[in-house]
Amino acid sequence: MIAGMALLATARKPAAVIAVAPVGEAPAAEVAALVPVLSESFGCEIVIAPAVPLPARAWNASRRQYLSTTLLDSLARAKRPEWERLLGVADVDLYVPNLNFVFGEGDSGRGVAVFSLARLRGALFRKRAATEAVHELGHTFGLAHCDDPHCVMWFSNNLAETDRKGTHFCPRHQKELARSRL
Ligand SMILES: [Zn+2]
Ligand SMILES: [Zn+2]
Repeated sequence: MIAGMALLATARKPAAVIAVAPVGEAPAAEVAALVPVLSESFGCEIVIAPAVPLPARAWNASRRQYLSTTLLDSLARAKRPEWERLLGVADVDLYVPNLNFVFGEGDSGRGVAVFSLARLRGALFRKRAATEAVHELGHTFGLAHCDDPHCVMWFSNNLAETDRKGTHFCPRHQKELARSRL
C-alpha cells in the first residue's frame, strides 16, 4: 500500500531539473563545465540559470569575506518552482561565523546551495569545482557529512582533502540520495 502510493507520487512529479547560476562575476565557462558531472551525479537535467547578483550586504569588511548564508538568501529568492534545486557558483571568499572560511554551504530546507571557486584554483581546478558542487547539492538533499574520506560528503578542511575525496558518493550516501528523491 505505502509502496504503491509512493510510486503514484513519483509518476505525477515532473522531470527533475537542477539549475546552476553564477553568483556575481563567476566565469561562465566554469559554470558550464559543471553540467556534465552534475548530470551524471544526480541523474537529471541541468540548466544554466541567469546570474544572481552578489549581495552587497553579505560583505564583511573586517573579515574581507562574504557570508555564504546571505548568498543562500539571494539564491532562495531567485529559485523558480520548476527547479528541484538551485546551485550558485561564486568566485569570492566565503565564510560562516566560527570558521575561517567555507568552500560552500547547502540548505535542504530551501533547496539552495552555493560554493566558491575562489580557493579551488590550481592543476585540479575543475575537478575541485565539481567536487564542491556535488557536495553542497548533496546537503540540499539532506545528506550529512561522511566518515569515508573518499566519499564526496566528507567535510574538507583543505584542498588536499577535496582532491582525495573526488565527486563520488559512498554506497550508503548513494542509497540515501536515491531515497530522498523518490
Ligand atoms: Zn559539507
Ligand atoms: Zn558517504
